[in-house]
Amino acid sequence: MGTTRDYYEILEVPRDATEDDIRKAYRRLARKYHPDVNKDDNAAEIFKEINEAYQVLSDAEKRAMYDRFGRVDMPGGGPGDFGFGFGGLDDILNDFFGFGGRRGTQQGPMRGADLQTQVTIEFEEAVFGTEKEIEIDRHETCPTCNGSGAAPGTQPVRCPQCGGTGEVRQTQRSIFGTFVNVATCPRCEGTGEIVSTPCHECQGRRYVLVTRRLSLNIPAGVDDGTRIRLSGEGEVGSRNGPPGNLYVDIRVKPHEFFRRNGNDIELDWSLNFAQAALGDEITIPTLDGEEKLVIPAGIQSGTTIPLRGKGVPYLRRSQRGDMLVHIHVTTPRSLTDEQKQLFRELAKTLGKEVKPQNGKSFFEKVKDVFGT
Ligand SMILES: [Zn+2]
Ligand SMILES: [Zn+2]
Repeated sequence: MGTTRDYYEILEVPRDATEDDIRKAYRRLARKYHPDVNKDDNAAEIFKEINEAYQVLSDAEKRAMYDRFGRVDMPGGGPGDFGFGFGGLDDILNDFFGFGGRRGTQQGPMRGADLQTQVTIEFEEAVFGTEKEIEIDRHETCPTCNGSGAAPGTQPVRCPQCGGTGEVRQTQRSIFGTFVNVATCPRCEGTGEIVSTPCHECQGRRYVLVTRRLSLNIPAGVDDGTRIRLSGEGEVGSRNGPPGNLYVDIRVKPHEFFRRNGNDIELDWSLNFAQAALGDEITIPTLDGEEKLVIPAGIQSGTTIPLRGKGVPYLRRSQRGDMLVHIHVTTPRSLTDEQKQLFRELAKTLGKEVKPQNGKSFFEKVKDVFGT
């Protein structure tokens, strides 16, 4: 098949349009008519035309031929041969315009891949910081051949497949018809050299897998899920590219009785009736060891006593969060006969006090009335 419409008309560009104009026009129209986004019956037809026009006008040689003869004969069935279905719109935009660099040669230095590991630490270690040894497996430049892949005393030779250029030309078929694509040489992986006598340590691979022990400095104040980056401790780069990074995810074990809330530490503490009514001096655990805490007489269940600056340090700052002691007054579940007797006597002195069972408490109602 093949369209009879003028390619310049189809792409809505003038005859003297630059390569860039044509590329932009194609992108705009592909976005508009690609069957992924345009469900019109004739959108697919229009899209084919756009592709056909683009394939010709984006190629200087074909464009010149088209300008001169008004038609171009293409090998492999030409642009009308659409037996492959459509690629996704994103694929087309990515593949043909190099967004994200998926296509094309990779001759330049390439940064090594990032690595990721995890370390589990104690609650207190997260609070005050610590130093941990971590072990990772990563590829490093082979120390025997210094990354050449060639046995000591020998030299790599020029790759016969690509003649040392590191790239090969491949003919590909797509919805655009047949075209030539430049790819990294599979034989030498783009280096342009191959090794005839491989290094015995890396078998010519240039890299070896090693296990490294690294010291990880964990700052005070990290929390569960904190990620620490160790720059340059990832995989080795290729063709003299820099190494990747190592990311360490911190996992913090829960504490027996402390809970962490950001930089505050929370602690639940139970008091009995007598302590709550009469007040007491109790000993509680804190991050800095045991501490005395004065309980005022008449404290209510649900009261929170803050201990300023007894929480978790803020990362890379000297301030600390607070410790919050939540007081729970517990009702005794079982009493001895003697205790029952004492409670009965106590009850007589307190009289019968009846409070509303639902809605607001007596005190809240008073607040509402007096607006305090
Ligand atoms: Zn080696
Ligand atoms: Zn090669």
